[in-house]
Amino acid sequence: MIKEDRHIHSKFSDGLNTPEELVKTAIKIGYNKICIVDHVRENTLWLPDFVNDILRLRKKYDSKIEILSGIEAKVINLKGDLDLPKNIEGVDFVYAAIHRIPIEERKYLPSGEISVNKSRALAFWFTAIRKVLKNPIPTVIAHPAAILYQHGVYLPKKVINTLIKEGKEKIFEINLRHRAPRGEFLTKVLKKSKVIYGSDAHSSDELLFWSNWIRK
Ligand SMILES: [Zn+2]
Ligand SMILES: [Zn+2]
Repeated sequence: MIKEDRHIHSKFSDGLNTPEELVKTAIKIGYNKICIVDHVRENTLWLPDFVNDILRLRKKYDSKIEILSGIEAKVINLKGDLDLPKNIEGVDFVYAAIHRIPIEERKYLPSGEISVNKSRALAFWFTAIRKVLKNPIPTVIAHPAAILYQHGVYLPKKVINTLIKEGKEKIFEINLRHRAPRGEFLTKVLKKSKVIYGSDAHSSDELLFWSNWIRK
């Protein structure tokens, strides 16, 4: 059984619960490791408070659960740069996420256009993700290819093989809420890459929901 959830959002960004409430729920579920991950931007100011809160909880619940801190930053261009504050000291994991497909600096492919020209969308996405894999800052690739699956775009074998090969240094997230990665990508990632499991829960209730879903 999976004993971790490494992608839980708190009130620090768009989640409903405090980190402590999430920790208590995770302990009730029986997880032995969680990562609280919140969305950041270049101008995010709460990061030191977030890091301190996680450190406080780590000490308080030390004997019950391992608590990690993460930040989820979106990819902003085809060079694989992230929307990150300058100082990210104390954060355990940086998650790189492609929520929209970049086409140039902070410009994105309108989501309606993805399914209209799938190969074009895939090409932009592939360019960006390959650069992200070379960027030393992020450690985790959040919900890999979710943006493509949402619009009916699936990864060709060649693309999958390249990502597995070039992503050796990264950790791929198996994201439950987005069901990403899928199909052959998921099979290969599970076999050949470092992986973590995350639900992308935005509340204690969702955390509970996904823990039940895993058990089934
Ligand atoms: Zn995300
Ligand atoms: Zn997320």
